[in-house]
Amino acid sequence: MMTSRLSLHHFLTLRSLCTTGPRTQASGQLKRSSSRAAQADSLPVMLTFEDPSAFRVKTFRELVRALGVFQLCSVPILVNNCGKLMSIAQTLLGKRSFSIVIRPSVYAQFVAGESDREIAQSMEKMSSLGLRPMLAVPIEEDLGESSGERQYDQNLASMLECVNMSHSNAWSKDPMMQLKITALISPELCVKLTSILSEQQYDLNLLVRAMEGEPISFPGLLEIENEHFLRGLQRLNKIGEASANRVRVLVDAEYTYINPALSLVTMAMMKKFNQDSAWIWNTYQCYLKESQSLLLEAVRLSINESFCLGVKLVRGAYMDKERNLAKKKGRSDPVHESWEHTNDSYNGSLDIVLKLISQDPQRYRIIVATHNEMSVQYAALRIGELGIDRDGGSVCFGQLLGMCDHVSLTLAQQGYSVYKSVPYGSVNDTLPYLVRRAQENRTVLQGIRKERDLLRREVRRRIMQRLKWQRGGEETI
Ligand SMILES: Cc1cc2nc3c(=O)[nH]c(=O)nc-3n(C[C@H](O)[C@H](O)[C@H](O)COP(=O)(O)OP(=O)(O)OC[C@H]3O[C@@H](n4cnc5c(N)ncnc54)[C@H](O)[C@@H]3O)c2cc1C
Repeated sequence: MMTSRLSLHHFLTLRSLCTTGPRTQASGQLKRSSSRAAQADSLPVMLTFEDPSAFRVKTFRELVRALGVFQLCSVPILVNNCGKLMSIAQTLLGKRSFSIVIRPSVYAQFVAGESDREIAQSMEKMSSLGLRPMLAVPIEEDLGESSGERQYDQNLASMLECVNMSHSNAWSKDPMMQLKITALISPELCVKLTSILSEQQYDLNLLVRAMEGEPISFPGLLEIENEHFLRGLQRLNKIGEASANRVRVLVDAEYTYINPALSLVTMAMMKKFNQDSAWIWNTYQCYLKESQSLLLEAVRLSINESFCLGVKLVRGAYMDKERNLAKKKGRSDPVHESWEHTNDSYNGSLDIVLKLISQDPQRYRIIVATHNEMSVQYAALRIGELGIDRDGGSVCFGQLLGMCDHVSLTLAQQGYSVYKSVPYGSVNDTLPYLVRRAQENRTVLQGIRKERDLLRREVRRRIMQRLKWQRGGEETI
């Protein structure tokens, strides 16, 4: 059984790592909120993200494009309806003309490209700036979109290609890629597994044996579901085998109605492939009230089952949908009540993992996946205080391609490992991803506003330079 029994030593260690009190005490949370705010206010000014010179590496065209896209993302009516608007535009213009409009704008801002040449060009540029690409195949499914074994096998082929691309090109040392489980196992099965897991746990060893091809019969599943689960686990096994010792695979977190199933299979992959180092990582969404206890549970499990733990720490991308769903079903909201509470949760979890890393950097790894400057500064501060090597491999930062380059470039200049999550594929394949990007830009509060201001300053600087040059100066834009 997966349920863990902790030794007193481990229990005490975990208690001491958990810097915050019980999650359910609202007053405690408010106190923590203000104490963390005070803590953040007193941060030494070691990293500032005020310098528009981070954008000097961009062409004038790239600057104007970024400004235009962020400007569009600030219009609520466009963002809230962008999915519908894009599909209307596609119908009216036809796929080709739509692609001609979208390619040089939103697509070019957030997607690396489609052909090998486009992707390679984009990656090489990133490498030259000291940033590391983390490739992401933007395939994902939600309920009602399940596409059958054949499609899942094709998705597997795309993922394996992604492993090879990440590994065989010299774009970055210690390559990483992202993986969405729902590209390989149907969301319907994940929902069913999630409901089974609320009542009984599956033994991780059972999953590992199934990954290796043993015809296990999982309790609670119909024969046809069991068959699909076995095939899904074997697909995940192929990715684990292809990537172990070559590429670190970061599994995405999705919706709360499937996350327990995603975590279960990810933990099984960790158990199999993370014996010597964290090749498989799981994602923790700090906007969830339960995120810190999930993280601690994962730490416990990794200790009890003797595997290394890789953590992608994010705030969470599906806030509106989670809240609407909870309201519709009459359930309590799984998301923290405010952005400040989410920030507290993020920094608290960050602390837990950084302390573990400072004790055992071979066993734990984290990617601080955020555009939030305060969290990035806090992480940098704690990395320094705990004496963790900036570029030792156990800690790195992550931002999305096309977002908050001023944060990524400043971090890279300071010697930290910085990954940019890089989706690639055709306009059609990346549309759902682009819609989510636009919507997310609405909630990435301070970061995008700051980026827009810095971009504007850089555009203005170049225009002034150009005018000066026309009047006889030397520099060009
Ligand atoms: C490399 C990388 C990988 C990622 N992988 C995943 C993934 O696997 N799964 C996933 O879900 N997301 C993922 N994300 C997206 C991430 O969860 C965030 O949506 C995004 O990064 C914005 O959060 P932030 O910390 O960057 O910015 P911020 O601007 O600091 O925070 C915005 C976020 O805060 C939270 N928030 C905003 N308002 C409120 C409120 N009123 N109450 C409570 N919380 C609030 C929301 O989560 C919102 O997205 C990833 C991001 C990166 C950079």
